[in-house]
Amino acid sequence: MQTTNVCIVGAGPSGATTSLMLSKMGIFHTVLDKAVFPRDKTCGDGLVLYVFQVLKEIDPQLLTKFIEHPAFLHSYKANFYVSNQLHLDIYPSQNHKPHAPIFYARRMDFDNFLVENLPSNYADLRLGVGLKKIERLHPQEGLKLTLEDGSELITKILVGADGIQSLVSRKLGKNKSDKNHTSTFISAYFAGLEDLLPENSAEIRLIYKNMPLFFYIFPLTGGISNVSFGGNTGKLGLHKINLKTEIENIIATHPQIKEKFTSAHRLGDWRGWGIPSSFGHLTVSGDNFLLVGDAAGLANPFYKEGVGTGMMSGLIAARQIQKALEQERFDASFFSEYESLLAQKFGKLLRYSNLSLRMAHYSRFFYFFIQLLKGTIEKAMIRIIERQSYS
Ligand SMILES: Cc1cc2nc3c(=O)[nH]c(=O)nc-3n(C[C@H](O)[C@H](O)[C@H](O)COP(=O)(O)OP(=O)(O)OC[C@H]3O[C@@H](n4cnc5c(N)ncnc54)[C@H](O)[C@@H]3O)c2cc1C
Repeated sequence: MQTTNVCIVGAGPSGATTSLMLSKMGIFHTVLDKAVFPRDKTCGDGLVLYVFQVLKEIDPQLLTKFIEHPAFLHSYKANFYVSNQLHLDIYPSQNHKPHAPIFYARRMDFDNFLVENLPSNYADLRLGVGLKKIERLHPQEGLKLTLEDGSELITKILVGADGIQSLVSRKLGKNKSDKNHTSTFISAYFAGLEDLLPENSAEIRLIYKNMPLFFYIFPLTGGISNVSFGGNTGKLGLHKINLKTEIENIIATHPQIKEKFTSAHRLGDWRGWGIPSSFGHLTVSGDNFLLVGDAAGLANPFYKEGVGTGMMSGLIAARQIQKALEQERFDASFFSEYESLLAQKFGKLLRYSNLSLRMAHYSRFFYFFIQLLKGTIEKAMIRIIERQSYS
């Protein structure tokens, strides 16, 4: 039977980052993904904040390759419409900045970009092989994994980077799905949208239908746009909202949106998926395992950034794994430090985002709050973007 010190399940942005960082540290490991890459992932395709910090930390040349990638669109601007009359202009300065603070990249291309850069001398990459079963051995021996092709692997440390439906989270963390801390979104690509905002700006709209719903148009290269729409999973069920019916209605009738779609056509079906913001309500580490990214519920509850937070958690996990291997400690009490490091990194932003989301449920109050503090909020958001993107 094969053995390894570290096995990462999932080669999405969180798992790929963990692997890239372990490789940088000279640590041999195995990466499994049930998909064969390039593979698609339902997403808005927006890349912000932590993505740049992480790429730079792994290798400044990797960040340069990312910036110069012809399929990744650069943007300095986002517009957030609280109502048809009121919007926030998020427009960080372009002066003396090494790169744009917002990128748009199809996940098919971005995730493949990361996987293609995994160094084969440290990462044993096995694509098209899913994890099927996990059995506990003695903590110093690790875990026995059974893969979908029937092969078996023993690992001292298992990194669950297997997304929102993580098997590692369910089996080892004993976590259950949590509708109140999850959003459900649908997304589709469109060609031929008209009157898009200038300068590759994102259009983000809060639309009320008994609850706040988020509508996004993100630009991509090649005249394609990603349109996504959704809200809190528990509340969608409570108010019996069908996202596909609702978005088709918005596209056909909304006064600020319908003109854009007059000559547009959808490329493929609407695709739905969950966005987990349940960090703080999940067990994210334990004997012989750590969870990263969506598996750890790390997506931002307000603006739904899950790629950057997932990548940053991969970086933090890799450092913890390095210490674990040096000290030969694989127990829950040692790995609990990882959870504290995640809380330190994301706690404040997640708390503010949760608060903003709660406030957004009271539409009138939220409108007046934003109207009153528009300038201050815009400046604060720009400060956060600049600090996180260029540090
Ligand atoms: C509609 C929508 C819009 C979004 N928009 C944005 C956005 O604009 N910006 C942003 O930052 N975030 C966005 N998100 C969130 C973002 O997509 C996720 O947070 C991000 O993909 C998390 O990355 P990950 O690597 O943790 O998980 P994933 O990207 O889900 O990767 C998990 C990987 O694990 C593999 N896997 C799963 N189970 C197994 C198994 N048993 N064995 C082996 N492999 C397995 C899968 O094949 C997959 O490759 C959006 C999400 C949705 C649904």
